[in-house]
Amino acid sequence: MGSAMSPSLHHSITPILLFSDYHTHPQGHRVQRYTQALLQPWADSAHEIALSDIAFTDHDRYHAGIDFDEIGRLREKNTDLKIRTGIELDNDPVHSAAGRKWIEKHWDRLDFVLGSVHFLERDDQMFDSVPAGAEQFDGRDIDAIYADYFRRVREIAATGLVDCLAHIDLVKIHGHRPNAEIEAIAGETLDLIRSRNLAIELSTAGWRKPVNELYPSDRIIQLAIEKGIPFTAASDAHSHVQLGENFHRLAEKMATLGIREVCVFEKHRRFVKSLQS
Ligand SMILES: [Zn+2]
Ligand SMILES: [Zn+2]
Repeated sequence: MGSAMSPSLHHSITPILLFSDYHTHPQGHRVQRYTQALLQPWADSAHEIALSDIAFTDHDRYHAGIDFDEIGRLREKNTDLKIRTGIELDNDPVHSAAGRKWIEKHWDRLDFVLGSVHFLERDDQMFDSVPAGAEQFDGRDIDAIYADYFRRVREIAATGLVDCLAHIDLVKIHGHRPNAEIEAIAGETLDLIRSRNLAIELSTAGWRKPVNELYPSDRIIQLAIEKGIPFTAASDAHSHVQLGENFHRLAEKMATLGIREVCVFEKHRRFVKSLQS
């Protein structure tokens, strides 16, 4: 008979404490000029859940709202919190050309740029809109869609304008699975990411989407570990109440997979930080 003191498999994994969230959207889904009223609640949320390092990564199509001076003021008021200036650059066929120009112009003022793929063949609809984007998969060859998606990820990785790839297997969002092994589909992309010395994120956002799975999958994480690709921790919060969402669950997953460090960025320089138990 076991007693309450017996070690069990469940308790043999020591949870780790995550301290950083490198994917957040203060503006949400529209242009909202950065102000203290918009940004301070994010700092407050960070304090509440004991995060000490966060990056603002609004969508590049809303770059007009980003104000470096307001971020500077927020830093002055919240000196115990590292606040990184970032942006999420995607492959928007309409807006991303302007986004790239803006990033090039402000590169030296930015700490961190996420690269992501939100568009497949259709120019007028993000495939990851829920539920509407699922129609882009109807009656299609899912392996071909996966191949096309990862080709687009390689394109954004090769721009030289990103530090980290966001939600790298977002193509699974509606629950569509390929027939081929994911290693055969994503391996070339992970090799390119490694050769470019980029990071990928572990995003809890997948747990609130139809697929209900971390981005990326365990298998892609294992491949990334084998290849020496570093990770950031991310929630893809579109509201300050989502900051660090499901990070306890993420910490358990990382402990299970043997990940004991995350990376953070300052002016595009990457620093690896050990995670404490
Ligand atoms: Zn995204
Ligand atoms: Zn995002």
